[in-house]
Order: sequence, then structure tokens, then C-alpha cells
Amino acid sequence: MNRSLKVLSVAAIVAIFAILALLIVRSEPSRREATFFPMGGIPFKVVAYGRSAVEFDADMAAVKRRVEDLEQRFNRFKEGSELAAVNGLDPGSSLEISSDMQRIIALSREWHGASLGAFDPTVTPLIELWRESGREGRLPDASRIAAARSMVGFDKVRVRGGKVRFARDGMSLDFGAIAKGLIADEVANLLMRRGVARGVIDAGGNGLAFGAGSFRFGIQDPMKERGMLMGAVDVTMGGVVTSGSYERFVKIGGRRYSHIIDPRDGMPVENGMIAATVVGGTGAGADSLATALMVLGKDEGRRVVKSLEGYDAMLVEGGPLGPVVWVSANLASRLVLTKEWAERVRLF
Ligand code: ADP
Ligand code: MG
Repeated sequence: MNRSLKVLSVAAIVAIFAILALLIVRSEPSRREATFFPMGGIPFKVVAYGRSAVEFDADMAAVKRRVEDLEQRFNRFKEGSELAAVNGLDPGSSLEISSDMQRIIALSREWHGASLGAFDPTVTPLIELWRESGREGRLPDASRIAAARSMVGFDKVRVRGGKVRFARDGMSLDFGAIAKGLIADEVANLLMRRGVARGVIDAGGNGLAFGAGSFRFGIQDPMKERGMLMGAVDVTMGGVVTSGSYERFVKIGGRRYSHIIDPRDGMPVENGMIAATVVGGTGAGADSLATALMVLGKDEGRRVVKSLEGYDAMLVEGGPLGPVVWVSANLASRLVLTKEWAERVRLF
């Protein structure tokens, strides 16, 4: 081989390597992230991998449209929302509802059953009664609780032929414990249909990992200020939702009453539960189950978690010697806790 040919072939090899390196850099899955505030200041975050800037912009435009549409259906506080219309139904009458509304009602019925009635989006009259009592500064008497309870019960929500009606006057629905999770599911499905192979959604604290690979989610420390974590969990394809009574409550006579109501006795939950984190399953399932576990408490709660395929949980319960952390055995290997919390773990 003559000298110039040698130089040429070295140059060719260098060029080939340069092109390969460029291709590798280009095919490295990019991580893109965006946050918007569709629900009265509640952040909605989307992380997607492997999208170009242009693709991700289009993804986010579609996500915003879908989230705003669902928000306009499921938010009972939003004027002109579909749920406001359902809740305003005249006694005895029925209303044609969208397929999204049919779906959230069907899922609610499913989780009402799976949670032994602890999750019940018809608790609204009780929520309002306790809120009002907080404003008045006195406990509601038994007759007011009984009156509110007569308007509660998911079995009294009837759907037939695409129409909904309530079996009692004064009933209404509140999807505060399932809608954010369901919206996360819907957005994940939308993104996967658009070709996003992997990503994460955070719908106001309701996490959801979709597609390939695992993602790490931080878990709020229920005894510390917002943003302080008790640990983190690795999740592959599934939800991560924490419900706690440490942030929202009404105060009556110097005592705190939880914003979560036990539909079975009409009382704010008071069972020692501090927080419940659900890992796995769907966003809607994890969201409703987290609230249900706060109602069920650690004994019934652990039984329900064990009965469900694909769901794990961590229950934080107060105790005389400080909090105890109940962790389902499947979760242990994917959970990292700070030293002070790790010492308090018991597996179930
Ligand atoms: P967050 O809004 O922080 O996700 P939760 O998931 O704990 O809080 O949901 C609490 C909300 O669910 C309450 O604000 C109320 O609207 C509603 N709710 C309270 N008790 C119940 C219950 N037993 N079943 C279903 N929804 C409930
Ligand atoms: Mg919730």
C-alpha cells in the first residue's frame, strides 16, 4: 500500500468513528420536562424521554387540552363543569353524561367495592357538614350527622343508558380522591399513543411512571415541612400516591379533624393513621386506595393491600413510642428510607 492510500484509509476510519459517535450522541434519549398549572395553581408536570423539542411541544399542547377538558368535567367547584351539572340534578331526574364521566363513575364504583366502602365519592354532604362545623367552631350533633349520612352511599348513584341519577335528594359527587390519578392515567395513555416510550407524570402530587424503565419518586416526610422527604421509591409502570391527614384539617375546640371522612360512620378519620403511600397499579387506583387506606387504618388497610394484585403500600401510623411504618414485603427492596424512618419499619 502506498503512503497516500494509507493516509486516506486512516482518514476514512477516523471519519467513520466520528459519524458513529455523532449518531450515538443523537440517539441518546433526551429528557424533556414541562410543568403547567391547570387546576387552580396545582402543578402538573410531564417528563418524556426520546422526544425532539418540536415533538415535545406538540405533546404538551395535546396534554394541556386533555387535562383542561377533564378538569372541566371532574371539578365540582368549577362553574359550568359537567360535575357541577350532575351535582345540581333536580330530585328524581337524570342527566346524560360524557364517556369520561361514565368512566370515572365506573372506576369509583370499582374502588368503592375494593376498599370495602372506605373510598366513597358521595361523602360530599359530610365533608360540607364538617367544614361548616369548623367555621361555626362547634361539633355537629348526631342528628345533623345522620341527616348527612342519609345522602351518602355510592350504591345510591345509578347509571343506566349513559345517564346518571341519584337515588336520594341532596346527593353529590366529589372526585377529589380519584380525579388527579385518573387524569394522570389519561395523560400517560395519550403520550404513549403519540409515541412516547417512557416518561413520568406528576399530577399535583399524584405520580405515575409509564413505559420502559424505572423511576425514583421522593416521599414526603409526614412529620416535617413540605419538601422534606422520608425516603424514595423506585417505580416501574405504576402510580405513586400519598394521602395524609397532616396537611389539611378543620379545627374545632382546639382539636384537629381530618379532611378525610369515614363514610361508614360519618366521622373524620381518627385511627392513628398519619399517611398512606400506595405504589403500583394505575393512577386512579393508587389515588383512591391511598385515601381509602387512611380511612381503613393499618389492620383493615393491610388486608386490603394484600388482597390487591399489583398494589403495594407504606402506612405510617402514630404510636406511643413514635410512628411505625408498615411496608408491604414486595415494596421493601424498592424503598429507601432515611435512617430515622428505616428504624421504624415493620413488614407485612
Ligand atoms: P389530596 O387531595 O391531597 O390528594 P386525598 O387523596 O387524601 O388528598 O383526597 C382527599 C379528598 O377526597 C378530600 O378533600 C375530599 O374531597 C375527598 N374525600 C374525603 N374523604 C373521602 C372518602 N372517604 N372517599 C372519597 N373521597 C373522600
Ligand atoms: Mg388522593
